[in-house]
This record gives sequence, structure tokens and C-alpha cells, in this order.
Amino acid sequence: MKKHNFYAGPSILSDYTIKNTAEAILNFADTGLSVLEVSHRSKEFQAVIDEATALVKELLDIPEGFSVLWLGGGASMQFCMIPYNFLSTKASYIDTGTWASNAIKEAKLFGEVDVVASSKDANYSYIPRDWKVAEGSQYFHYTSNNTIYGTEIRKDPDVPCPMIADMSSDIFSRPIDFSKYIAVYAGAQKNLAPAGVTIAIVRDDALGHVDRQIPTMLDYRTHIKKGSMFNTPPVLPIFSALQTLRYYKALGGLKELERRDLAKAAALYETIDASRMFEGTVTNPDDRSIMNVCFVMKPEYKDLEGEFISFCSERGIVGIKGHRSVGGFRASLYNALPMESVQVLIEAMKDFEYKH
Ligand SMILES: *Cc1c(COP(=O)(O)O)cnc(C)c1O
Repeated sequence: MKKHNFYAGPSILSDYTIKNTAEAILNFADTGLSVLEVSHRSKEFQAVIDEATALVKELLDIPEGFSVLWLGGGASMQFCMIPYNFLSTKASYIDTGTWASNAIKEAKLFGEVDVVASSKDANYSYIPRDWKVAEGSQYFHYTSNNTIYGTEIRKDPDVPCPMIADMSSDIFSRPIDFSKYIAVYAGAQKNLAPAGVTIAIVRDDALGHVDRQIPTMLDYRTHIKKGSMFNTPPVLPIFSALQTLRYYKALGGLKELERRDLAKAAALYETIDASRMFEGTVTNPDDRSIMNVCFVMKPEYKDLEGEFISFCSERGIVGIKGHRSVGGFRASLYNALPMESVQVLIEAMKDFEYKH
């Protein structure tokens, strides 16, 4: 049976990515070797990382003066690399969820952290408004999409200092105005590649302004100087990322990806809002994520949640169980998920509601 993959991460990849990765595991670039067993210094892999880097720059329209890095350690490693490299006095952060608060915890090891606002009081079900960045902040850090709670800041905020964003779960779903940023980072396993590689896009001239010693591997300048080859980069995830990037480009780039993402999310939210049985956990439409749609059963139907998961799995729908800190359901609608899968979920919700 065809599966409809709604996992939050690692998550669905395009058929193109999976097929080409499978082929390269058997024979990479006609070398007669698997991509699993070639040197990262071979000319064939150098071509892969070069093309992947160029496509990230092209698709995201990254201006001159920024470097695109392919790093290990996950987005969670960036929580410490960011303040290690950029924070000497004070930085501002907004607390919109678990990942944001993990980033705040690490930043506190390196300087003063001004938390401009938090939505923790309401289990992170909204994006705080009317906050101000503290005077003298070196940067403002935010999580553009809160994967666990289904909220999103889809528009680059306006603040009086440079910005840094964790875009792990919504990169390649909207344009980014890089003139406002000194760094953007994203773990690949939500919208790009298998787990194991993280993209960090850093503004070169924003580096080198802290006076602490930085361990070699945690210093962005090391990886810029060596083209992400200071040590062995995650070869296979980078190969897969290239396939996804080619697929994105062939589809028509960010414009088309965003159009599809908005249409998928609109269809699902419309169904949730019109339902007698389901309700969204994020009530302000402006705060709703187009990548991770979180919903629950209304109190009078609560005891049917388990049954709905089984009902869905009979139809090939997998990965819709909500994160344990929110409960209910979460449908992740990443770029590779076709509208057809959203329609199958919508159908299941309607049929289940009819049945009860
Ligand atoms: C998944 C996720 C992370 C954590 O990524 P790792 O690669 O597991 O460290 C961080 N931030 C956001 C927004 C995420 O969705």
C-alpha cells in the first residue's frame, strides 16, 4: 500500500532524492564504487558539494558575503556554535518552544541573554507580539518554525539589530531577506536530506569579533576556509541534499514550493476549522505553521484519539501522532509531501467523523 508520510523529522523526501541516493549507493557517478565508500576528497564528491552549495545560494538568493557550510552535529550543535562565534556581550532571543529554549540555554553560557518574550505560559500555542529587543543586543535569535507546537514566524521580523534564525523545519518554504541576517541554520532532516548534515549560512564579516578562544571545530572560520572539508563531512546526506536541491530547482524554486506548501496547509486547516470533532491547537491563523499542522480532538471526542491513529494507519497514513508535549495529532507537510497525501488525510478525518 502507498504510504502517506507525515513524520516530523526525519521525514518524507522526494522520490527523486530516494531513487538517486539508492542508485549512488550501488554506483556513484559511474565510479564503480558506492557513494558510501568514496573519499570525500575525490573529484566526484567535490563536484557534489560544489553543486549543492551553489544551488543553496541560487534557490535562497543568498547575496555575496555569505558562506554556506555543511556541518555535522545537528541544529542542536548550532545552539552553541552561534553564541560561541557571535556573542560577547548581549543577545536577544524569543522563546517560542523547546528548540528556542534549548538555544537560549546554550547562549547563556556565553553572555547576557535578553529573552524578549515567551509563550511558554500557554504551552507555546501562539507567537508573542509587542516585544522589543534590548538596547545594545548584538543579535536577535528566533526559531522560524516551531516544529513541535505548529507555530511559525513566516515573515522576517523587523528589529534594530542583525538576526539569526533556526530554520530547521521551514527552510526552502519561503524567501529570506538575507540583508537582515548574520546567520541562518537548518538541520537537513526536515526539508532536505536524511539526518546527519546541517546547513549553516553565515555572513563572513560578522565573524571574528569575539575575543574568546574558539575550539577549531566550533569556529565557523575553520569550515569557511576549508570549504566544509576541514574534517570528513557527512558525505551521504550531502549527496541526498543535492538531489533534493535539483528537484526543487526543476519544480520552479522557492516560489513554486511556497505555493504548494500554502495550498496544502490551507486545505488541512480548512478541514480542521470546519470539523465537529477536531480542533487546531494554534487558534490565531497568523501564527499557524504551514509545515507542521497540530490538532486534537475536541474534549467530547478525546477518547477516540487512539482509534483515529489506527483508522489512519489502515489507509497508509503514518506519522501523525502529535509530539508528547502537545498530544493529539501533528501532520507535517514538508515540501516533498504531495497534495494527494493531504487529501487522503482529509478524507480520513471526514470519514472518521461521519462514522462517529
Ligand atoms: C528538529 C529541530 C531541531 C533539532 O535538530 P537536530 O538536528 O536534531 O539537532 C532544532 N530546531 C528545530 C526548529 C527543529 O525542528
